[in-house]
Amino acid sequence: MATVAVPKVHKNFINGEWVEAKTGRAFEDRNPAHPAELIGIFPASSQEDVDEAVDAAQEAFKKWRLVPAPRRAEILYRVAETLVKRKEELARDMTREMGKPLSEARGDIQEAIDMTYYMAGEGRRLFGQTVPSELPNKFAMSVREPLGVVGMITPWNFPMAIPSWKMMPALVCGNTLVIKPAEDTPLCTHNLVQILTEAGLPTGAVNVVNGMGPEAGAPVVSHPGVSAVSFTGSTETGRLVNQACASSFKPCHLEMGGKNIILVMDDANLDLAVEGAVWGGFGTTGQRCTAASRVAVHKKVYGEFLDRFTARVKALHVGDGLDPETEMGPLINETQLQTVMRYVQIGRDEGAKLVTGGHRYESGPLAEGWYHEPTIFSDVAPNMRIAQEEIFGPVVALIPFDTVEEALEIANGVTYGLSASVYTRNVNLAYRAMRDLEAGIVYVNAPTIGAEIQLPFGGKKATGNGHREAGTAAIDFYSEWKTLYIDYSDRLQRAQIDSADLG
Ligand code: ADP
Repeated sequence: MATVAVPKVHKNFINGEWVEAKTGRAFEDRNPAHPAELIGIFPASSQEDVDEAVDAAQEAFKKWRLVPAPRRAEILYRVAETLVKRKEELARDMTREMGKPLSEARGDIQEAIDMTYYMAGEGRRLFGQTVPSELPNKFAMSVREPLGVVGMITPWNFPMAIPSWKMMPALVCGNTLVIKPAEDTPLCTHNLVQILTEAGLPTGAVNVVNGMGPEAGAPVVSHPGVSAVSFTGSTETGRLVNQACASSFKPCHLEMGGKNIILVMDDANLDLAVEGAVWGGFGTTGQRCTAASRVAVHKKVYGEFLDRFTARVKALHVGDGLDPETEMGPLINETQLQTVMRYVQIGRDEGAKLVTGGHRYESGPLAEGWYHEPTIFSDVAPNMRIAQEEIFGPVVALIPFDTVEEALEIANGVTYGLSASVYTRNVNLAYRAMRDLEAGIVYVNAPTIGAEIQLPFGGKKATGNGHREAGTAAIDFYSEWKTLYIDYSDRLQRAQIDSADLG
């Protein structure tokens, strides 16, 4: 199924030009389904390249901040339209680069399209407040201002959606940016930026610096010319980013790990819950920050759920994402495969019961790629490591429970707080779960994945630091308030001291 393509040598994008890294070094981008297939070669950048990119973005900011937001939005509309036109070709590039099935890759591009249209619409809103002043002949309002140059660090699991979640709101608010894409999926960002450029974005407004995290990402985060940072990735790296921003009070948005749960109550529609658990646990090979890596099931229906879930998971079609039959693709790289294999061993050592899966593919056509069998552990205790730590792979831990209280305690008993779901037909129970689940996103009768772009996205506890992406919440991060008072009384009026003459 491998697509034979000539690997291209790609460059950074700085100050409106495609340029090589000053280091002269490069890295390889390979297809995880067929690691022998080279997708492209990208520059391995360092501080010097970042410095140039930030200079360009600072220069561009001087003009871009003054472009009326509806005009900025027109460029985004054009970007969205090109994404629509080129969706299929972009999705194929994504599947080859990242491994997710083509249907999911199309979804990833669609999310970028949705976000781009949404943020283009914001160009004619960017609402502030106009409120009455307590004094006569005085006007009071607030407006949004851009922050300056935003530094963006992105992961590989949603290689076009996540960059668009950051770039589109930042741009419509009048910021310029430097993005350091994940080293496993630089082609998707390259494609997106090429489309932005073709749509007429001014020189220097968007800059791309490719490379590894510590060499190319860390200098973006710590650069004094970068006014704010948006990061999506692991909790360990997020902590470093947070620390690097703290000393200069740089606003920093962090979107990190998850250990999300599906709760299946005894009155649930079991067929629906099984479908949800399969999609939530094994969609994107479990490599979503919202993946349902834990499924807790009421003991009354545990046996039946386990049987149906196992049968469904055993039947999953694993393979190259370009094959239309494929339901689950490979892991992103060898390191991620090793991590999954390590956790399978940890689960066995902890005494969890391996129901199905548990191995990489040692022979046959999948042996060459970074594939791992879809894996279920049953009878998992909530405190086991496989039920506590983010694995980011096709491994689901099934946990039995007796009462609603116990279910909520299990759900909340992890350090993360991104996404949670409950399957029930009891409205009282559904509302109680919505109130008590410690998560940024809660689903009822749907799995832990499936966020839409018009609402806030993000999590609590070790998942995030209070900011949210998407919807108007993104606008709140990429703009700063300026409060304006206009006194047209021609005299000194003192707030809180002078009272209005009521005549
Ligand atoms: P993952 O393990 O899922 O790849 P990471 O947090 O390591 O998650 O990577 C997410 C993004 O963060 C990638 O673009 C990566 O290059 C970048 N990154 C890694 N280390 C650093 C760092 N020290 N500073 C800034 N960015 C980093």
